[in-house]
Amino acid sequence: MTTTDKSLFRDALVAAAEAVVAAKDILTHADQAIGDGDHGVGMARGFRAFVDVVSKLDGSDPTACLQAGGKALMMTSGGASGAIFGTFFQTSGKVADQAAGTEPGPLAAAFGAGLAAVKERGKANAGDKTMIDAAEPAIAALAAHAGEPMPAALAAMAAASRKGMEATKDMVATTGKARALGERSLGHPDPGAMTFTIFCEALATKMAG
Ligand code: ADP
Ligand code: MG
Repeated sequence: MTTTDKSLFRDALVAAAEAVVAAKDILTHADQAIGDGDHGVGMARGFRAFVDVVSKLDGSDPTACLQAGGKALMMTSGGASGAIFGTFFQTSGKVADQAAGTEPGPLAAAFGAGLAAVKERGKANAGDKTMIDAAEPAIAALAAHAGEPMPAALAAMAAASRKGMEATKDMVATTGKARALGERSLGHPDPGAMTFTIFCEALATKMAG
């Protein structure tokens, strides 16, 4: 394993966070449709801080990158999603082993722990029209491709995330701000599920080189 290979995961995390920052307006529109419109601004601020911190870290330490990125998100982004995405990355980094940066199985285990912490903290589950509806199938796909090279497994993860995000259009929100809309949330994708998908897609693209 070369140094370049080792720091590729750090570079991919940075590229994925930059993709969320660049999607600010799309995320704003999504949250204007079913929430209060602050998701784009909050996520752009949080993932900008994620980029600033993680890009300066030692690329050979994926657990430190995930933890520090999560902490930066938590401290800067605000809103429900700041706590949710902050918890996801922080917990992922805390439980991850160093192979999480280079092997799909360990990364799926780390992300799985991150998702469990999100559910514990936010008391939401699959079907509630949240980022969980993208993250859960995405992480399951990553785990199912554990024996494959990272780029292929991450591509499968990103595809499953997008499918899960698309499926949130058919869900009635039962948690968060969109809950007040009830049936009127139908037809619109969940903003947090979009953020998770944009992150996964850029992560997969960068890891593919
Ligand atoms: P707020 O709801 O405070 O305005 P944002 O607009 O930034 O925060 O984020 C909304 C997104 O956060 C939702 O689209 C959803 O994906 C996610 N979210 C909200 N509550 C929860 C929860 N309890 N569990 C998981 N995700 C949640
Ligand atoms: Mg909002």
